[in-house]
Amino acid sequence: MTPRWVVLKFGGTSVSTLTRWETIARIIQDRLAEGLRPVVVCSALSGISNALERLLREAIAGRGAEVLASIRQPHLALGQAMALDAEALLQPYFEELERIALGASLLGEATPRLQARVMAMGELMATTLGAAYLNRMGLRTRWWDVRELLETVEETHANEARRYLSATCAYGPDPSLQERMAAEPSDVILTQGFIARNRRGETVLLGRGGSDTSAAYLAAKLQAQRLEIWTDVPGMFTANPRQIPSARLLRHLDYDEAQELATTGAKVLHPRCLEPVRAYRIPLHVKSTDHPELEGTIVSAEAPDVGPRVKAISCKTGITLVSMDTVGMWQQVGFLADVFAVFKRHGLSIDLVATSETNVTVSLDPQANALGPAQLEALLEALSAYCQARAIGPCAVVSLVGRHIRALLDELAPAFEVFGEHRIYLISQAASDLNFSFVVDEDQAERLVRRLHAELFGRLEADALFGPTWRELFAPKPPVTPAQPWWHRRQKELLEVARQHAPCYVYDEGTLSAQLEALRTVRAIDRVFYALKANDHPEVLRVFYEAGLGFECVSPGELKHLRQLFPTLAPERVLFTPNFAAAEEYQEAFAQGIFVTLDNLQALEAWPELFRGRSVLVRFDPGRGAGHHRYVRTAGAQSKFGIAPADAERLCTLANQLQLHIIGLHAHVGSGILQPETWAETALFLAELAEAYFPEVRYLDVGGGLGVADRTGVPGLDLEAVESHLERFKAAHPRYELWLEPGRFLVADAGVLLARVTQIKTKNGARYIGLETGMNSLIRPTLYGAYHEIVNLSRLDAPATQTVDVVGPICETGDVLGYSRRLPDTQPGDVLLIAQAGAYGAVMQSHYNRRQPAREIFLSATAAPSTPTFTQTTVAS
Ligand code: ADP
Ligand code: ASP
Ligand code: MG
Repeated sequence: MTPRWVVLKFGGTSVSTLTRWETIARIIQDRLAEGLRPVVVCSALSGISNALERLLREAIAGRGAEVLASIRQPHLALGQAMALDAEALLQPYFEELERIALGASLLGEATPRLQARVMAMGELMATTLGAAYLNRMGLRTRWWDVRELLETVEETHANEARRYLSATCAYGPDPSLQERMAAEPSDVILTQGFIARNRRGETVLLGRGGSDTSAAYLAAKLQAQRLEIWTDVPGMFTANPRQIPSARLLRHLDYDEAQELATTGAKVLHPRCLEPVRAYRIPLHVKSTDHPELEGTIVSAEAPDVGPRVKAISCKTGITLVSMDTVGMWQQVGFLADVFAVFKRHGLSIDLVATSETNVTVSLDPQANALGPAQLEALLEALSAYCQARAIGPCAVVSLVGRHIRALLDELAPAFEVFGEHRIYLISQAASDLNFSFVVDEDQAERLVRRLHAELFGRLEADALFGPTWRELFAPKPPVTPAQPWWHRRQKELLEVARQHAPCYVYDEGTLSAQLEALRTVRAIDRVFYALKANDHPEVLRVFYEAGLGFECVSPGELKHLRQLFPTLAPERVLFTPNFAAAEEYQEAFAQGIFVTLDNLQALEAWPELFRGRSVLVRFDPGRGAGHHRYVRTAGAQSKFGIAPADAERLCTLANQLQLHIIGLHAHVGSGILQPETWAETALFLAELAEAYFPEVRYLDVGGGLGVADRTGVPGLDLEAVESHLERFKAAHPRYELWLEPGRFLVADAGVLLARVTQIKTKNGARYIGLETGMNSLIRPTLYGAYHEIVNLSRLDAPATQTVDVVGPICETGDVLGYSRRLPDTQPGDVLLIAQAGAYGAVMQSHYNRRQPAREIFLSATAAPSTPTFTQTTVAS
């Protein structure tokens, strides 16, 4: 039977300590248990390739001994930790290095050929120690010299450095190699990354970082089931996570995207390692040796297509630009062919090109081209026959990577504002439509990446594609803050409620009151109308009723609900703000004597008699929405709400004809807004309209949308600042009464959803925790991509050990309550708590799939911890 091969590559840091080798042994054992035959490819110990790269140069300068010592020491230390006699095992390599260093110092010269031989020693030594260790651990390991397995494609160009230091190999399926390896009686084959042989049998290198490519060549030759790249980060991220801790894990990529990322500088994969696996559709997993339990990134042909999307920002430094001025030559036939032929003759491959009528600028990656100062000098000299050529550098290429990037231009526009402060030498957009690249001065790059990342990914939540951020995975968790959410305190009661009633929403009266108190600090607001669409539970409404709040209703059903609960409620405490409502709805509202808001002029034209002589508020669209998702922005070009300011004059005319009194103006820009100036800006917008057109206006209703911080430790809305902006407005416009319509702000924190775990599943490395209820009870995550904190209430104090997707039982892929959440070891029967579910939770639930959604329970503030008193409401049918 042909073996099923898996190729595992371990990078420099992954092979540098005993602990990591213990992990390597465990991973190999797991693969054997899966029935796979592992081929393990290793890099040199971390830092060794750099030291070897320096060795010849330093030897020539008489400092070879120091460098040699810095190469021996880490190997001996690792050998000692592994309880091996490293001195004896590595003696031949140490001696050879000494000999070569001495030779170089005598000759005063180091050829690329010699450089390759020296640098190959790093991987040879690391694998020698590794094989001895694995054998001692009982894994039968065969050490193989990879130069017997990988041969370079013959390269004819004149760039000798490139031929020896950055070579490429053939990787077609290799039945004879498969046979030889299959016949090998050992459990594991261990070999080197980075090195290969050329036709003459000499040692060559595959370019810095090239061990990934060695592993990919072997995976293709062996037609492996999978290639695993084990490194020091748990996958590919939206940016280098060591630079940008808010970078998110990319859970899936297709080969093209991964290729683009690697080419544009995401060092985690060597740019040449994608092609061999793509050619044979071999899946590639990127995993972390220090955290093998984390899911990592899967690169495969099966990555979900999410349409146009920027997936990552990468950056490549150390770039040289060659700028060629071509005055007078541009129109000549063959000019480009001539200059590019020069690059070809020098064995240099070009990355980016920009042309104008008088200038051609190209970028060169000195690493991939093995381009040193001497080669550059020679190139410029040769080009001078055709044009005035000069080198610019060091530069950096900053790239936005993602599919169909051209379709995103309008969305990217705000991000491009950051370029105002940067000098850009070259802009390039790949023909493949996979990247947008900018060449800037190298010292500008990090700042630019940081700002672009914040702009493009700052507001993103985890989903099926984007996993947790680096910070979420690794940053030390802040100590539990004194402002613990109420459900920490009431854990026991909640568990008891869940035992009897889960799945259920639970509301905490104390939190409702606390939010009310907070809102009262905004003294500039004269009247508050609670938007009862957010949560219309009778007990919740009672709290607000008793506190003297008004209510904002959007439908006759809401009006009726309110009247039934509070039959004596004064009409001026009710505001009716429907949209696209039928004539009867207005009729009924006028009959009740409540405030009515109109948001379409056509209603006046269609039903003039209905409105004649009435007093109304009118909703305007301030033209620019705000909020956490497109669907919650309720103003701007794509929103159905409000009338355009341009229609104010027409409204004036209609109002005069109908003796309609416009007593108030209203605008509401969206939901979840954390910018404290928003409401004062809305007030100003409305006041200007009132002054220009509507002298009878007394009330300015600045809407709701007050944001709630959705993570512990993240600052929420600064109410003091809201107050001070509004006070300033009021001082300038004392004649208006200011109204506010908060909904979510008052109730979100007060509610949680409790649901029991039904099943747990692991599939393709991803872990799912299934709950008894999902989007049928809480649709916000599916509808808006809303983030709700999720905790295991049964194990509140246990440390988080796993990354999971929390899903419901509904037959929809989107039935996910939280992606990539960190939870403790969780078992069926545990109660999970979904926080901040007090707003737009129960009110939006459905019976989809004929599943009963969560019921609602109200915990009064006075309930004794041991005997919860609660009011239960079953869902109205
Ligand atoms: P190895 O020695 O295991 O081959 P490398 O140092 O070559 O590891 O690659 C891993 C490094 O790649 C990470 O430590 C990280 O700093 C860097 N890196 C750059 N861009 C990215 C990215 N987009 N996602 C993940 N890692 C990245
Ligand atoms: N050891 C080599 C380098 O540091 C190859 C690798 O690690 O991938 O470049
Ligand atoms: Mg690497």
